[in-house]
Amino acid sequence: MGQLNTSVIGYPRIGYNREWKKALEQYWGGKTSSAQLETELNRIEAERLTTLVDAKLSYVPVQDYTWYDHVLDTAVMFDIIPERFRHEFADQLDTLKSSQSDAAGTPQAIIDVTFGMARGTAQSTACEMTKWFNTNYHYIVPEWEGRAPELLYNHPVAAVRRAKQAGSVDVSVWKPVLVGPYTFVRLMKGIAAADRAAVAKQFAVVYGEVLVALAAEGVTNVQLDEPGFVLPMNKEEWVAVKEIYTYLRAQSPSLSIWVQTYFESVSDYESFVELPVDVLGLDLVHGKARNLEAIQKLGFPADKRIALGVIDGRNIWKTDLAAVTELLTQYVKPQVPAERWIVQPSCSLLHVPLTLSSETELPEYVRTILTGADEKLVELELLAQHLANPTADTEAGIAASAQAVAEWRSLPERNRPQVKEELLRIQSSEEAWTRVPFSERLALHQARWSNLPLLPTTSIGSLPQTAEVRKARLKFRKGEWSEAAYTAYLQAEMKRWIDIQEQIGIDVLVHGEFERTDMVEYFGEKLEGFVFTKNGWVQSYGSRCVKPPVLYGDVAFVEAMTVVETEYAQSLTSKPVKGMLTGPVTILNWSFVRDDISREEAAYQLSWALRQEIQALEEAGIGMIQVDEPAVKEGMPLHPDDKQGYREWTVKAFRLTTSGVKPETQVHTHMCYCDFSDMVDLIREMDADVISVETARSGGDIVEVFAKHQYELGIGLGVYDIHSPRIPATAEMASFIESVLQVMPARTFWINPDCGLKTRNEQETIAALSNMVKAAQQAREHLTTKNT
Ligand code: GLN
Ligand code: ZN
Repeated sequence: MGQLNTSVIGYPRIGYNREWKKALEQYWGGKTSSAQLETELNRIEAERLTTLVDAKLSYVPVQDYTWYDHVLDTAVMFDIIPERFRHEFADQLDTLKSSQSDAAGTPQAIIDVTFGMARGTAQSTACEMTKWFNTNYHYIVPEWEGRAPELLYNHPVAAVRRAKQAGSVDVSVWKPVLVGPYTFVRLMKGIAAADRAAVAKQFAVVYGEVLVALAAEGVTNVQLDEPGFVLPMNKEEWVAVKEIYTYLRAQSPSLSIWVQTYFESVSDYESFVELPVDVLGLDLVHGKARNLEAIQKLGFPADKRIALGVIDGRNIWKTDLAAVTELLTQYVKPQVPAERWIVQPSCSLLHVPLTLSSETELPEYVRTILTGADEKLVELELLAQHLANPTADTEAGIAASAQAVAEWRSLPERNRPQVKEELLRIQSSEEAWTRVPFSERLALHQARWSNLPLLPTTSIGSLPQTAEVRKARLKFRKGEWSEAAYTAYLQAEMKRWIDIQEQIGIDVLVHGEFERTDMVEYFGEKLEGFVFTKNGWVQSYGSRCVKPPVLYGDVAFVEAMTVVETEYAQSLTSKPVKGMLTGPVTILNWSFVRDDISREEAAYQLSWALRQEIQALEEAGIGMIQVDEPAVKEGMPLHPDDKQGYREWTVKAFRLTTSGVKPETQVHTHMCYCDFSDMVDLIREMDADVISVETARSGGDIVEVFAKHQYELGIGLGVYDIHSPRIPATAEMASFIESVLQVMPARTFWINPDCGLKTRNEQETIAALSNMVKAAQQAREHLTTKNT
């Protein structure tokens, strides 16, 4: 065979040194002009194009790049601009629409509207952002206001023109990438499920215009991303999808149209393969079993090519290329000959760091098993060579990858038999997973904290992380400060804030989490089983990047992680101080996790370690312990058949973490920024004595949800949004509390902000918490007058 086709779905945007982030932030900070911004962003775009071309891919994505977010770009491209921005930028948009100019450079109107929608302006609130499927990438949520779409600015054509300017490559290898019409509509806000099919059809014409224009640029391939196809869809939607693609096919006969799915198996394989397009892309890493089964059972159309996602685009471990070779030859080849394959990573490489080859400070045995985007490109090239023309060299390369993965599995440095044994031992012990019934615990808690008023006030854990706090931590980390100096600083800060909280009149205090850079990293650094990269950044939203911890081995508790600070804070006050931990599922969902054991097992290992921390806190006399689980919802599998299993093991992981405590210890948990409507049963099963949830930011809808489910355990509803510098008035919070008490019993009700306060400044925090305490007092008075 001559050559095996390869491609990638997308590639990181941020540049090797996060230059992308810097360029954007300088521009937003008013330090550079839009021309300077454009020059720098185009330079990064050209650089990544060169990397991809040098990787000898058969097809190279263009326009998977963006200045902020690809969903936002799609919205602007099709004039799905919310009325508030349309109004604010009316003059600029009018000029843009009336000018026929084809001038190079992104029009200022497009730049302003794009950043306006993403970040908000003085006049208009930003569009919401939310997680892109089950990843930690956040997209800007387009808002459907019923206006017919129009092609306002052809982003892909602009990208192709820039690529022409930057490189000498043959246009026939370029593959502009667009969010597909169904997925775009599926992710939009303001469309009832029943109307989705009809709205999607309204987009056929504008997508057609883009494709026609691309064909006119000499482009021969275009990729339409439809990860929406992995979600449950009804027949009517599939009919609409077929209609749209039939139209697009007819509009651009010279284009090879690719429809790409990822993150899970396609929800209706039969309908999918019937689409009148040229290339169909399937994820054979996430959703592998179901996709392979469908290919085997139902075959694959002879007139289409198949894009096979075989290298994990979402995780950072080296691929066993021998296993991939076998998978392809055994399961795919009998149905589709290799001439019709395109081999690629499972999804855009945007979800992994650009490279991990320069993490020289990591132990050799970890470093060599890590792969960032660039290392995955190398794997892909070797795989393709081997599949097309195996030689002794490729054979050796493939065997080496299999051997490296096998050795990694059994490496003593990451296997802790004792942890596995302990977990096996407790599997069968009922006690390890359950506490005495809530009603019994509640009586003990009421006796233990008989001083607590009705509607006790508290906060979620972190207090303002000022520049000074961050500087202190940095000095300690760099060795400029001794441990003693750093401890003294932390103690002073804790003392100051314990005093402030007492003055404000809060009932249950927190130590403030000043010692933590990040709620996951802090624990990862203290537990065995994690490593941290220096430069393993991935985009989270807009210019914001995160550096997820790497969970590479069996987890073990080494020594107490939070006791010193909590104990110190408690020594300063007679009021209860809550201990603060990050829960097992959140640690898991915000890390890169080993893939040689199940996530469930990895979660239990974390639970077991955290359980020992809780025990240490209890021994130090801490009576209330909060285990935060803000990331439970986002780890929910996309496929309906997998959801129940996930629910079960996340509940078990929480219970394993917390059920070792004495009945008189009060367990708290916290969750935020997700749709709670289908979470109440799960939360109840977690069996925490008190859950604090974010309420204010999401408009209080959640109150009804909890009221409807007659939630009987303790609950703290967030009474103000912590993302805004705005100081909520007492009356506003009081009336919110009143309205909640109409539908929920006061008996187990707590009062708190929506989430941690680390991003707020001191002044705002004091003012807001003071008003919150006053609002609670008013509500209490009201309750007593009502009852007398
Ligand atoms: N305890 C953490 C804090 O207060 C919780 C943060 C979160 O929910 N993301 O910062
Ligand atoms: Zn939170």
